[in-house]
Amino acid sequence: MTNWSTLSDVCGAADHVPALLDRFEGDASGVWSELMDHLCPQLDTAFSASFAALPRLAGLASRCDGEDRQAALSAAGAIMACAPGGSDVFEAYSAPIAALHRLTDQCLRADDDPENYIPLLQRLLSFEGVEIWDRCLEGLQTGEYEVDCPCCGVDLFIVIGENGCFSASDDYSLREVEKVPLRPAKPAELEGLAKRLYDRTLADGHQFMARGLPYLFGRATCPDCGTACEVADRVAARWRP
Ligand SMILES: [Zn+2]
Repeated sequence: MTNWSTLSDVCGAADHVPALLDRFEGDASGVWSELMDHLCPQLDTAFSASFAALPRLAGLASRCDGEDRQAALSAAGAIMACAPGGSDVFEAYSAPIAALHRLTDQCLRADDDPENYIPLLQRLLSFEGVEIWDRCLEGLQTGEYEVDCPCCGVDLFIVIGENGCFSASDDYSLREVEKVPLRPAKPAELEGLAKRLYDRTLADGHQFMARGLPYLFGRATCPDCGTACEVADRVAARWRP
């Protein structure tokens, strides 16, 4: 049995968390924000009680479907995105994490709503302990990343959109600015995580996201100083504290 009084959430001692989880089980979509306020505020901090909630979240995700399953997977994924790579949380909660991973994998295959796909894919990576990309794939959905030039430091917009794939150092949405085309990686040359994401998104039928990945794992040029850089490295550099 979990001794919740020895664990903590954002409020301190976590005695109240089981009752909050009871309410979450009754209305996962409705109570999601409140649960996250306690267990994963701003979706960037987790506590001992947050990880202790994983078995309950896995149980709920396995018993329900639709929005409630999405809410449970989303809560658990946000918590796991806060676990440092190699953290002993992965061993201590290996069974619920494996169940959450399996359920997320099923949802990815079954859910053809593009709005859900990238958040779910990020959750899958959270449960695998993949850092950075469990938070940074969203730019493929919004069509834009903001990074900085490794040489001159200027803010760069990396646009991976339906209307073009380019870098710009000024706000391209407000005025005419110089746009330097991105140079995508060749799909056949993608390796490691990039290849896995590319193959998976194609297999799941999300061609639009698959089309963006070679740009995300390709190269950009700074319009101001002409320095070329790896887009993914610059995204990672912006994310790392
Ligand atoms: Zn530059």
